[in-house]
Amino acid sequence: MSNPAAAQLLAWYARARRDLPWRARPGRRADPYRVWLSEIMLQQTTVAAAQPYFLRFIQRWPDIAALAAAPLDEVLKDWAGLGYYARARNLHACARAVAARHGGHLPDTEAALRELPGIGPYTAAAIAAIAFGRKATPVDGNIERVVVRLFAIETPLPGAKAEIRRRAEAITPEMEAGDFAQAMMDLGATVCLPRAPLCERCPLAGGCAGRAAGIAPSLPRKAARKERPRRHGVAFVLRRADGAILLRRRAPQGLLGGMTEVPSTDWRAEPWTMEDALREAPAPAEWRVLPEPVEHTFTHFHLSLTVLRADGETARDGIFWRRPEELADEALPSVMRKVCRRALG
Ligand code: SF4
Repeated sequence: MSNPAAAQLLAWYARARRDLPWRARPGRRADPYRVWLSEIMLQQTTVAAAQPYFLRFIQRWPDIAALAAAPLDEVLKDWAGLGYYARARNLHACARAVAARHGGHLPDTEAALRELPGIGPYTAAAIAAIAFGRKATPVDGNIERVVVRLFAIETPLPGAKAEIRRRAEAITPEMEAGDFAQAMMDLGATVCLPRAPLCERCPLAGGCAGRAAGIAPSLPRKAARKERPRRHGVAFVLRRADGAILLRRRAPQGLLGGMTEVPSTDWRAEPWTMEDALREAPAPAEWRVLPEPVEHTFTHFHLSLTVLRADGETARDGIFWRRPEELADEALPSVMRKVCRRALG
């Protein structure tokens, strides 16, 4: 793609850009805080799912200083349901680092941004280009697909990543790199669609090698995926006479670190026998197994969680009771919300 094609893409973007709450009006520079927050939320998450979370965060914490001053627990509560909770912990750590090291303002170079918690090469490039107008080339899934098709790259992913990056950098214009990146994202999201690209509406159709070769819909090629392993666990839903259920906080590090959960066994490769599982129960009680296990898919494994329910009272360090109407305010990850729904009906 030549520079005239970049100009065509930018002209298309001026007409067809998506109106998103983190974007600046045409001709204005975007707020770095909004760009950063949206880019973190959009990792592994759709625009539709991220948008209400973004609006809630912005309303509650309108700038980095406010977010840095918030307790981590409050941030995790408002993140609950969005998944990939390490992002929320890093978001909070990053806000604190920016407040302490940079006076509450995100630095404006890729190198300085990458020194911050939770900001990798993609996010640093996106913020540098979109919020600070630097020449930088973020490559997300949408941009990856557009570039692969434009240059008819037939090497399967992830092996093709280095070539895609080289090609993407080569077509990034010196000026307006932020708008160019957002235009590529929008083209991927609205025109160069995964299964059926709408080439007749595409401003780049004239120079698209994938289209010319008639192979665009089949790109990008992907290396065969390994099957996700399955893990098994048992969750214990203990109900007090007033309807409250027993919860606890997970350890701060690791998967779902710092989130709230129904007391559960480890999640392991072998299924649990009832005898083994009951040794891990939070209290002696008449535990009943609910019919179907709760199934949940994480990035690296499927989890099959058998749910046991009982009535009882207990009090131990690190555990607490919440009534059903209070659960919405807890930092319960999606898998634990499923467990509660299954147990409480
Ligand atoms: Fe994608 Fe078609 Fe445009 Fe090529 S011409 S970039 S395949 S939408």
